[in-house]
Amino acid sequence: RREAEAARAHSDCVMADGRRIEIFANLASAADAVRAVEMGAEGCGLLRTEFLFLDRTEAPSEAEQAAAYGKIAAALEGRPLIVRTLDIGADKPVPYLPIHGEENPALGLRGVRLSLHRPELLAAQFRAILSAVPMHQCRIMVPMIVDRDELRAVRAIFDDAAKAMGISAKVPFGVMIETPSAALLADSIAAEADFLSIGTNDLTQYALAADRGNPALAAKIDPLHPAVLRLIAQTGIGAAAHGRWVGVCGGLASDPAAAPVLIGLGVTELSAPPSVIASLKAKVRTLRLEHCRAVAERALAAASADEVRALLKGDF
Ligand code: PEP
Ligand code: MG
Repeated sequence: RREAEAARAHSDCVMADGRRIEIFANLASAADAVRAVEMGAEGCGLLRTEFLFLDRTEAPSEAEQAAAYGKIAAALEGRPLIVRTLDIGADKPVPYLPIHGEENPALGLRGVRLSLHRPELLAAQFRAILSAVPMHQCRIMVPMIVDRDELRAVRAIFDDAAKAMGISAKVPFGVMIETPSAALLADSIAAEADFLSIGTNDLTQYALAADRGNPALAAKIDPLHPAVLRLIAQTGIGAAAHGRWVGVCGGLASDPAAAPVLIGLGVTELSAPPSVIASLKAKVRTLRLEHCRAVAERALAAASADEVRALLKGDF
């Protein structure tokens, strides 16, 4: 029986009606990657590269980054690795990246904005990724995008780095949808991005105007809020118009109760911490798309997150 369970944990995740949903892992270290594979992850849907950049006095060298990315890719044994470019801002003290006097770091020079402000750091990160991650595993993802023009600016830096290295292989280049702007403009972004991955932590924070780190607000910040779900729906529509896949790598992907709604809104990839991979697969295997769509439609019409939660409890 244990063998059968292990085989199930490691086999692909297929819905009850035969549709494939990819279950990936969020990682922040090589140890995480080993654990993710043990737990049955089909790849990495979000590598948070911040771990390499925090708690130090100077930026990690290209060689150091390459060694770390290479180790993680190797631990994934050929599975896809979505590397997110550096996502930090003034909320995290990094002495070699002085960001001065921001009153609102969440609305400041963070994520892709910082990368475009310091393009030499971004180029170095791209070179490290391209030199260390085997091409068949390599995917790039950019955080905090608000529109297509930012994507173009980052991609130009990537293309230059790849060209200078003599790399002609096409590396899938995606963006995180974690600002309301990006969700609303998902159609124009999807025209030029290879995939979209929804960051529900930030998307919720920005949609509900509620600091995700403020404990006094924690009870009110629910990513199943219908306002957030409508942004996710818009993302699904925009991606479908261009035949792109949509995933979720924010915390909502870890909640098995949310899977029917997300799948009903067009999501085909869920990326979550290694510890929840098995329960997520088990839940998704019980679902049918037609039913997910009906649930999603009702969730979109709800007036509050509590209403959505009640709906999901009643239904599943
Ligand atoms: C998110 O915002 O949902 C996300 C996955 O990114 P992070 O939590 O690293 O900001
Ligand atoms: Mg985020």
